[in-house]
Amino acid sequence: MPKLKKQVIILGSTGSIGKNTLDVISRNRSRFSVLGLSANSNTRALFKQIRKFKPRYVAVTNIDKARELEKKLDSKIKVLKGDKGLARMVAQKSDIVVMAMGGSSALLPMLKAVEATKCIALANKEALVMAGALIMKKAKQKKVAIIPIDSEQSAIFQCIRSKDRSFISKIYLTASGGPLKDISAAKLKYVTPERAINHPRWKMGKKISIDSATLMNKGLELIEAMWLFNLPADKIDILVHKQSIMHSMVEFIDGSALAQLAIPDMRIPIQYSLTYPERLSSGIQRLDLTRFKNLTFEKPDYKKFPCLRLARNAAKLAGSAPCVLNAANEEAVKAFLDKRINFTDIPKVIGKVLKKHRLVKHPNLAQILEIDSWARGEVKCLF
Ligand code: NDP
Ligand code: MG
Repeated sequence: MPKLKKQVIILGSTGSIGKNTLDVISRNRSRFSVLGLSANSNTRALFKQIRKFKPRYVAVTNIDKARELEKKLDSKIKVLKGDKGLARMVAQKSDIVVMAMGGSSALLPMLKAVEATKCIALANKEALVMAGALIMKKAKQKKVAIIPIDSEQSAIFQCIRSKDRSFISKIYLTASGGPLKDISAAKLKYVTPERAINHPRWKMGKKISIDSATLMNKGLELIEAMWLFNLPADKIDILVHKQSIMHSMVEFIDGSALAQLAIPDMRIPIQYSLTYPERLSSGIQRLDLTRFKNLTFEKPDYKKFPCLRLARNAAKLAGSAPCVLNAANEEAVKAFLDKRINFTDIPKVIGKVLKKHRLVKHPNLAQILEIDSWARGEVKCLF
């Protein structure tokens, strides 16, 4: 009997993860069909994807762009508009929702997806950082699997075989170190957005590229890993591994360690999230370890990259602290990209807002949204 095709909805299909997800699907057309695609405003790229993958639904959050697109499409394709439209698309019954949207705007669609789908393939990290407790609780209630796409989280997911966390002594998330790893601390102030975006290993969207340069990306991953794997912050360590071959490692109490290795190509963890628990041949280049003379591992420099320390502190405080960290970081990164602040101002801004925040231990959704907007307001008052 041929297997039924899995119906996939991709939020953020025009981004870096979205495009890679469609590449994986195009190599496995007998396994997957595209039920829905979404973008914020890039309807030009979306239009090409619609022609190729023929989804039943498309959602565009920018309403003017959505109207323009609707005029160009066959009426069989339902164009859903704005945030409400996106929520309606996510509410359709699907097998997998790929969360490839960037930023905190993924939070509400993610909560909606938990209501309607069987499985979430998760690339977005901001939603879990903001509201990990709420999302994980709801996913458990609804029996929705959350399968990570992020290469480090996918590696840990692949290495942990048991639900029993008492076997784990530590997990090590690897970090390439970003494009500014070897630049002197004194020169960091003068780094331009163009330079900071230029990541040596991964081609990604702008925001995550800056997060990789400040190491906030690793900080967000630390918090994300706490929720995904139900581990406290002090059981999660960071290892700088600039070749990006070992994607993360789990160390067990008997001294054994398991790691996942592959060439740095996001299509590998994306495909695994779609085919889990099976594996399919990917056609992607194999890892040839003889090509690497050295695989290096170092401790991160918390002094040069204070964002990592800020994230670790917020992780330990928990409650509403990670939500503040995330919101302040998003606003600071925007300001840096617009050349309104320097690279080294990013952690300063986040630190100031975190200091002003009065911690809420168990925030509900309304409180999270309020705190998120408060933190953004505070950042805007700083410059
Ligand atoms: P991109 O910036 O390349 O893409 C973002 C996507 O989200 C685009 O499709 C964009 O649409 C859409 N989008 C942005 N804002 C909104 C909004 N307000 N409403 C609806 N849609 C929106 O990002 P990446 O693909 O690099 O990253 C996406 C997420 O995955 C991030 O959270 C990132 O941290 C995470 N991630 C990314 C990795 C990577 O290798 N890129 C690795 C691991 C995790 P439009 O094109 O119209 O702007
Ligand atoms: Mg990562």
